[in-house]
Amino acid sequence: MKKIMTLASLICALSTSGFSGGISAKEAPLAIAIHGGAGTIERSKFTPEKEKAYRAKLKEAVEAGYRVLNEGGESLDAVTTAINILENSPFFNAGKGAVYTYDGKHEMDASIMDGRNRQAGAVAGVKHIENPINLARLVMDKSVHVMLAKEGAEEFAKQQGIKLVDNKIFDTEHRYQSLLKAKKKLDTAHSNKDYQANHQALPVNYKMGTVGAVALDINGNIAAGTSTGGMTAKRFGRIGDSPVIGAGTFADNNSCAVSATGHGEYFIRYNVAADICARVQYQGKTIVQAGNEVIHDVLLPVGGTGGVIIIDTKGNISLPFNTKGMYRASKSNTSATYVGIFKED
Ligand code: ASP
Repeated sequence: MKKIMTLASLICALSTSGFSGGISAKEAPLAIAIHGGAGTIERSKFTPEKEKAYRAKLKEAVEAGYRVLNEGGESLDAVTTAINILENSPFFNAGKGAVYTYDGKHEMDASIMDGRNRQAGAVAGVKHIENPINLARLVMDKSVHVMLAKEGAEEFAKQQGIKLVDNKIFDTEHRYQSLLKAKKKLDTAHSNKDYQANHQALPVNYKMGTVGAVALDINGNIAAGTSTGGMTAKRFGRIGDSPVIGAGTFADNNSCAVSATGHGEYFIRYNVAADICARVQYQGKTIVQAGNEVIHDVLLPVGGTGGVIIIDTKGNISLPFNTKGMYRASKSNTSATYVGIFKED
């Protein structure tokens, strides 16, 4: 059925364009969506200047990714281009601006997936990689593995010609202040049990802020990528959902591409990104239905907070979240640049 519909839409596209050699750039959908994390993002916490600066950075990232698509580039390149801009900004919890671990360092996770063939690459707990999404891409393109971690991942990076950087380059004052506040809450614990309870009770904003992108290119291929500093004051080598294929990132041309942000433990346990795509593929749901079901009906009742960005091969985009806000933006060849921060945007 799906094949017949695809063929029918192809014939329709060809007949309306009067173009006989294939689908021209005008008819083929191009689209991209990005996020910069979800959480208790409320208007009252923003000065007009701060809001303007965040909106400008989201716009810059989504438009740079879109330019790649518009010039005929691949969805994977659009995804890494947009994510690099967000990683290089101190506003978001990825790359420069990554949160601090309990020990005052930065440990980053990232992953990328190609919807054409379900190839994927991921890195976890890297400390000296300026743009972790680029290393995830190298793991996908240049290794036989899917996920590399810590020193091993950095050894691989060196072999691939990536210069290792000092962990201090990721320092920012606002994240340091968040670490101090988080530690104050955690350090009142007298036992491991208290510590775990304190950790569970940390406000959601200590557990969020990731960046991600999903894109559809001129050849009809979708891709997804996610990059994060993880959770403020994380310990014991904690790894979240962002580098876990199926949890924080997923892409398959047969369904959709998803990048997630939120309380990672829930996103891993509920296999969020893959669950959304499975609903699209096997239940025939739209990305709007599938995304809303998982974010609002599955995650929220169990206490899982966050959001996702979703794209399909027709260029549909959905950006559901169950938090107060989510930094997000999108652009396609049929819609102008959209930038949102708050629920009402
Ligand atoms: N999901 C990320 C993690 O748990 C955090 C985030 O999205 O902000 O590591």
